Amino acid sequence: MLGNIEKISVSEIVRATGGTLIFGENESVRSISTDSRETGENCLYIPLKGERFDGHSFFDGALKSGAIGYLTQNGEKLDGYKFGIKVADTKKALGDIAKYYRQKFDVSVVALTGSVGKTTTKEFVASVLSARFNTVKTQANYNNDIGLPFTVFSINSKTEIAVVEMGMSNFGEISYLTNIARPDNAIITNIGTSHIEFLKSREGILKAKCEIFEGLKNGGTAFLNGDDDLLQTLSGKLEFNTVFFGIDNKNCDLLAENIKLYPEHTEFEISGEKFKINLPGRHNVYNALCAYAVGKLYGMTDEEIRNGLLNYKSDGIRQSIIDINGAKILNDCYNSSPQAAKSAIDVLKTLSNGRKIAVLGDMAELGEMSEKYHREVGAHFAEEKCDILVTVGSMARFIADEAKKCGADEKNVHSFDNNTEVCAFLKGNLQKGDAVLIKGSHCMKMDEISKNL
Ligand code: ATP
Ligand code: MG
Repeated sequence: MLGNIEKISVSEIVRATGGTLIFGENESVRSISTDSRETGENCLYIPLKGERFDGHSFFDGALKSGAIGYLTQNGEKLDGYKFGIKVADTKKALGDIAKYYRQKFDVSVVALTGSVGKTTTKEFVASVLSARFNTVKTQANYNNDIGLPFTVFSINSKTEIAVVEMGMSNFGEISYLTNIARPDNAIITNIGTSHIEFLKSREGILKAKCEIFEGLKNGGTAFLNGDDDLLQTLSGKLEFNTVFFGIDNKNCDLLAENIKLYPEHTEFEISGEKFKINLPGRHNVYNALCAYAVGKLYGMTDEEIRNGLLNYKSDGIRQSIIDINGAKILNDCYNSSPQAAKSAIDVLKTLSNGRKIAVLGDMAELGEMSEKYHREVGAHFAEEKCDILVTVGSMARFIADEAKKCGADEKNVHSFDNNTEVCAFLKGNLQKGDAVLIKGSHCMKMDEISKNL
């Protein structure tokens, strides 16, 4: 990745990383890159060790593309560069520089984590805040120990608010990120079951997400989904201000009411004021409601927030709707989890008056409980009385099995082993007026299905 930054000196970098200067103390840096092929003005190249490659093998390439300085774990002095700094761990040094950089600016940071809905909430929050403030945000889904530092680097002296997404798959990861970003306010969207393989239980997931508070500044506010049974348990237990938002739990500080679901948009009310978002699905009301809550904290008017919410349109990978020969395909193959699959089934129901067909693939990283969670999705399919269920993958067979147990008609439930078989089935069966949901974990590559149809 490459990020342009406001000037920092080599001595600042040495101090921030606790590194040792090899040579070139009087230089300064205007950009940082971890990719030897991409550099900016006065660029610092930070080689990272990945699974397949070690960036330390690409110093020549980085120099050729214009880098002027480098970090290294080995301490070598390289010709052609203007400076070099030895650090113990280049990835940690990237975080250390970001942590230092963040503290140079009088910027308010809103951080968010949660099992699902982080990126959507991040986009809504940033869209709302941009209606009044100079706002930067995490690009795409760059929410890990490499992506987050680059979000921090996008801050400059004009930035008023930074909206920062934090992802994780194990304990300690959010703790690391929050100590770099030092949020003024923090959001937890919900506690689901994603990554339960590593975290063992939903309680474990709650604990891992709550690490976000370790970096939260005094006087900060925590925005929490008040319909989430585990987040509710934090009520009265945090040393921060809290705002609980929700739909069902009437004890929430902020409620969305009179929700109206449409195929491509959703309407709802907050304290009697009407709002509209250009995304389908009840789950997106939580994401928008949270953005409303944040906007209010920053003193925004209903009108500004209304425009901010309306302005956000999906990026196309998540839940895009494509028309194929008169059938509506809800393409949602970016990722899946039990919660996300259930909410996608709810969206499917609003899509058409014709047949509702759910094509569901395996959901990954669910560990020992995987069968149970796949079964829950099958039960939801049957409860919502959708018409045809198509599963792909070995775990997804449990979705099919449970759907049948819960009353779905056996002749309308089909299980396949791969996407090619699914395509063949759909090609032979799709009718005008059908609505089709395609959803599965990233590794199932289910976008192949929509591409081939
Ligand atoms: P990732 O872990 O990939 O970063 P994320 O937490 O950023 O995911 P999004 O990308 O916003 O989540 O949404 C992923 C999917 O989860 C969406 O396509 C949608 O199906 C579902 N989803 C989004 N928001 C919610 C929510 N509040 N509750 C339940 N499901 C949701
Ligand atoms: Mg995300």
